[in-house]
Amino acid sequence: MFIGHFGVALAAKKIAPRVSLGTLIFAAQFLDLLWPMFLLLGWEHVRIAPGITKVSPFEFFDYPISHSLLAAVGWSIAVATGDFSFRRNRRAALVLGLAVLSHWILDFLTHRPDLPGYVSITQAREKIGRYGFWSFMIFLVIAWIASLAAGAPPSTTALAWSALSIWITVLWGWWADSHRRVSPRA
Ligand SMILES: [Zn+2]
Repeated sequence: MFIGHFGVALAAKKIAPRVSLGTLIFAAQFLDLLWPMFLLLGWEHVRIAPGITKVSPFEFFDYPISHSLLAAVGWSIAVATGDFSFRRNRRAALVLGLAVLSHWILDFLTHRPDLPGYVSITQAREKIGRYGFWSFMIFLVIAWIASLAAGAPPSTTALAWSALSIWITVLWGWWADSHRRVSPRA
């Protein structure tokens, strides 16, 4: 998925043209930049298994700090926050944070299902389970962008209505989960 991550960086350049492409690549590849360091530190592990997949001979069985969903969300917030503290540009920070998150999403869509997180805890019963979960993740990202871009609400009533929308995430998560089952190994 190496090319795909660069594709994200190039696409992000259109949205935030003043941010260096290097910084955008840094963000889009952030998880893979961390990963070899964590391997060297012995915090994460990989197995070399020729023939395990068509594209790579590696079995990524332990990389929770660099590549779990929870960690990816954390890293993306960290990168966005870090950039904002320097640049003071909300758009740039947002684009960089999303670029970090995009890495996990692209890896998830293209790798074997070895990424840790919710996905290894549950399995889709049928297609709805898989797409329900994914549409939910995309919704969360969009909601996150909207909340960052929205600024102060015009009234407390507006605030209450927008805060109520958090219920959608509960229902959506419930719906997606009802089409999944807990993995035997979880
Ligand atoms: Zn990766």
